[in-house]
Amino acid sequence: MNGMENKNVFAQLGVSDAVYALGEEVLCGLRDRFAELDRTAEYNQAKVIAAMQKNRVSAACFTMTSGYGYNDVGRDTLERVYADCFHTEAALVRPQITCGTHALAVALSANLLPGDELLSAVGRPYDTLEEVIGIRPSACSLAEYGVTYAEVPLLADGSPDYEGIRAAINERTKLVTIQRSKGYATRPTLSVETIGKIIRCVKEVRSDIVCMVDNCYGEFTEKIEPSDVGADMIVGSLIKNPGGGLAPIGGYICGSAACVSRCAYRLSAPGLGQEVGANLGVMTQLYQGFFLAPTVTASAVKGALFAAALYERLGYRVVPSSSEERHDIIQAVELGSEEAMVAFCRGIQQAAPVDSYVTPVPWEMPGYESRVIMAAGAFVQGSSIELSADGPIRPPYAVYFQGGLTWTHAKLGVLMSAQKMLEAGLIRL
Ligand SMILES: *Cc1c(COP(=O)(O)O)cnc(C)c1O
Repeated sequence: MNGMENKNVFAQLGVSDAVYALGEEVLCGLRDRFAELDRTAEYNQAKVIAAMQKNRVSAACFTMTSGYGYNDVGRDTLERVYADCFHTEAALVRPQITCGTHALAVALSANLLPGDELLSAVGRPYDTLEEVIGIRPSACSLAEYGVTYAEVPLLADGSPDYEGIRAAINERTKLVTIQRSKGYATRPTLSVETIGKIIRCVKEVRSDIVCMVDNCYGEFTEKIEPSDVGADMIVGSLIKNPGGGLAPIGGYICGSAACVSRCAYRLSAPGLGQEVGANLGVMTQLYQGFFLAPTVTASAVKGALFAAALYERLGYRVVPSSSEERHDIIQAVELGSEEAMVAFCRGIQQAAPVDSYVTPVPWEMPGYESRVIMAAGAFVQGSSIELSADGPIRPPYAVYFQGGLTWTHAKLGVLMSAQKMLEAGLIRL
């Protein structure tokens, strides 16, 4: 029997008995949280299946189309599935949307005209949006087209500054953007409930202001989405949560018919809109990925929670803590030194099904001020719903850990990271 114990098969992968035992101990304290995550996954799974059944998804939906893609049943039905699942009038879900930044850029540029103002209600948005908006000058930015930008930072405790938001709205304010996930910043991730409060605050000042939510990393972490609390558009990437790890590319915009149809005209061309865009044979992956997304997201959240609890136990500061509610899949662990970041990332890499033999090292990445280290061994390149870790080499030497298509793989990754820390003499058990 002894030979068939789980710790032995983990030992074959390089996890020592001591690290495995620590993991089991930490897990004992997480049972209730895991049960709650399973209930959320169950709820969301039912939501997805109901949307697929309502729209009579069938084998015909998986047929490849090419060329213009007129009358693409698979594409049109998938968009109805997204719209019904997220309770919106319309959805644009396309492989032609190359990533989350692209989806957000389409949503913004389609719904803002020269002279309009964009307001970020939750401080500085995700890095890549700085060039989309023109905070950092870039060709074709919104700023170049005469769209101005204002932002209201979060309060010191990380909560929204409702008074500041009301005061920042002027007669030119056309669209308010709200980022759900902290991304790679240190602010807290917003709950859907809090997002709802921000939207109500904005709509009380002027009900015609479009409220857009950058939903990246947040999908299916709660039972409701920002579209359930008044968002006019929710936007995200298919190589994160809603692609379930299977989508090879893509992005989505779900929202009001008026906003989404403008997005379709911006994505393709005025006059063409949503009618064109061949599916290129990726429909099975987009449907099946969406079907898997609730449980895949729950696996990733379990991994994040496990990492938080284990590294807390080892004495590190983690954001969010293991007792906080979670609204996205990202876990920050402040490791305090470059050596610890390297060891952590090597563990994640060594646990991967793909590229496990590669050794991550800090490097000068274009566009970043500090050196960056990244660990990822993914089936879909750059996919961050798959287990990955990265961070800039600068104080507080935080790694951002996310993803895990299965909870078991996320568990192995976390244990392996601790193993590498142990072997480097950075922790003691
Ligand atoms: C990932 C992410 C984006 C951008 O998505 P890409 O697919 O990397 O372009 C935007 N906002 C947030 C909050 C994200 O997490």
